Amino acid sequence: MRKLVKVFIDPGHGGSDPGAGGNGLLEKDLTLKIGLKIRDILKAEYEGHSIKLSRTTDQTLSLNERTKMANNWNANILVSVHINSGGGTGFESYIYNGNFSGKAETNRLRGIIHDEITKEIDLKDRGKKEANFHMVRESAMPALLTENGFVDHKDDAAKLKTDSYLTKIARGHAVGLAKALGLKKKAEKKQQYIEIVTDSLWTYNSPDWDDRAVTVKRGEVFTVVKDKFAVGNGHMYQIKSGLYITANPSYVRVYTK
Ligand SMILES: [Zn+2]
Repeated sequence: MRKLVKVFIDPGHGGSDPGAGGNGLLEKDLTLKIGLKIRDILKAEYEGHSIKLSRTTDQTLSLNERTKMANNWNANILVSVHINSGGGTGFESYIYNGNFSGKAETNRLRGIIHDEITKEIDLKDRGKKEANFHMVRESAMPALLTENGFVDHKDDAAKLKTDSYLTKIARGHAVGLAKALGLKKKAEKKQQYIEIVTDSLWTYNSPDWDDRAVTVKRGEVFTVVKDKFAVGNGHMYQIKSGLYITANPSYVRVYTK
């Protein structure tokens, strides 16, 4: 089996360090919400990875503790999530501005993730930048830091106040990470349908052969919401309207799409 790719997410600040503040928002709250959402999206939609957060609560952590955690875990990539302030607007990302082995690869991965985030969020692209930040300097794996809008900018803050916007930011990170790391999408469960293959057939109000509802006709197609299950001596499906119908292949044909 392929080894799991280790993704380390660092929600910036926390606990006694609120980070930037403005318009009733604190950076540490936003970064935590985004970090948790990145984890949830990656878990729900992609496979082949293992994900760790530097913090999952409003916890105080030094920068050293954060990079130590990622280095000791042997993460394959680190993303430190931040919100900007200081009178600008938009999104930007950072890698370390020094020379280090693997810089080209780090920059390539950052490029993929940066582009997926800007595709997802409706914010000005301030560019792919470099800086001497602890989180990108002291981590032993490819590392980037994202600055997702400005808390002290009215329009950015209005967006950051809505949960759906934080989900967009998180989705950009998750999709970018998946693309950069070659994570496979989880197989989607295919939708089942049934087609009536007899002239007239009873449906049922409940999973009970005596609880007849209405008849349906040959050629009609229904969406299955509950897979075949045993009822008395036979089997039923539940269809989208809430009604139940026999699973007997003499009367219905099931197919997926
Ligand atoms: Zn910050």
